[in-house]
Amino acid sequence: MGLTIKEILEKEIFAREDIISLLQSEGEDRTLLFKKSAEIKEKYIGNKVWFRGLIEFSNICSKDCLYCGIRKGNINLTRYNLSDEEILVAAKFAYDNRYGSIALQSGELESSFVTGRIKNLLHKIKELSDGELGVTLSVGEQEPDVYRKWYDAGAHRYLLRVESTNQTLYNKIHPNDSKHDFNHRLNCLKSLQDIGYQTGTGVMIGLPFQTMDDLAGDLLFMKKFDIDMCGMGPYIEHADTPLIKHSEKLMPLKDRFDLTLKMIAIIRIMMRDINIVAATALQAIDPIGREKAVKIGANILMPNITPGKYRDSYKLYDNKPCTDDSAEDCQSCLEARVSLADAEVIYGEWGDSKHYHLRRRQAPGDGHQIMN
Ligand code: SAM
Repeated sequence: MGLTIKEILEKEIFAREDIISLLQSEGEDRTLLFKKSAEIKEKYIGNKVWFRGLIEFSNICSKDCLYCGIRKGNINLTRYNLSDEEILVAAKFAYDNRYGSIALQSGELESSFVTGRIKNLLHKIKELSDGELGVTLSVGEQEPDVYRKWYDAGAHRYLLRVESTNQTLYNKIHPNDSKHDFNHRLNCLKSLQDIGYQTGTGVMIGLPFQTMDDLAGDLLFMKKFDIDMCGMGPYIEHADTPLIKHSEKLMPLKDRFDLTLKMIAIIRIMMRDINIVAATALQAIDPIGREKAVKIGANILMPNITPGKYRDSYKLYDNKPCTDDSAEDCQSCLEARVSLADAEVIYGEWGDSKHYHLRRRQAPGDGHQIMN
């Protein structure tokens, strides 16, 4: 007979079958899992939440991921690209409201123009905030020298979801061409880590064809890769994407939501001091979804500070929440949510991954300066 959930939760290291049992836990067993992850969070992170002001600065994308609403092939979408001025106004809003940092996210484009533009924006963001505002980038796969330029210009965190670590599944949800190459995505993650970024990754949960074994493999990958940040969320279908034809294979939305909470709880136990995002997609399923994630392990929230008029066009999936809010609405709503979760928003701090600093201490010699 296998181990009970209580016995598994007492183990120092989870094996693949332990993780699968935890993912399948129900009732009291599920409560035990969430209790344990909440305790670990309290002990290693505290009941705290840090904001990253999210600026979705462009939905123009050269990729055609089969699940994504902003994929190049979706013609039912107005494409936009914020001006530098609009991006800087949003960054200033974050700084004035004492968010420790911002996250710049967009579709994926590789060009010397994009490289130069982001480098220039990084300098300006540092300038307008006296070097205080931290910057996370999430602009996809790039060459190592591009990542290096942006790191030298002041970006210190990078979020690149691997989407799924099972290569067969990865190939089913992406076109099979050199622009959507699984190994290239892994190499990008490795470059980011080698350069010195706080490196974040994650997966979508509840994809068609995905198994519990795949999800267990995803968590084991994150542990082995020694990530500093994790951003994972439920897969939510989008009507204008090719993956919609597999909708009948999907588990109900509330099960995808529940599985995402379990994934967050398990990674919190496996990697106690990393930063974990409570993804917006959770709220698309449950109005207090992000609050629930904060309770059981997440410690990062990303208030959307993209100018309101563009938000409707950054629809990665159907029913994306808050597309008609302003940045101010988003902040007060999130603050209320955080206090519902008995947690406290920490202002004016970068809220770095503790894991990163411990990892780097073991590998000294990097000169990148941490301001806060
Ligand atoms: N292009 C950049 C990249 O790949 O890192 C950043 C933008 S991309 C739109 C951000 C994330 O949105 C992806 O990593 C993916 O996990 C998520 N996403 C896209 N479509 C989704 C969907 N239908 N449901 C849930 N998440 C989705």
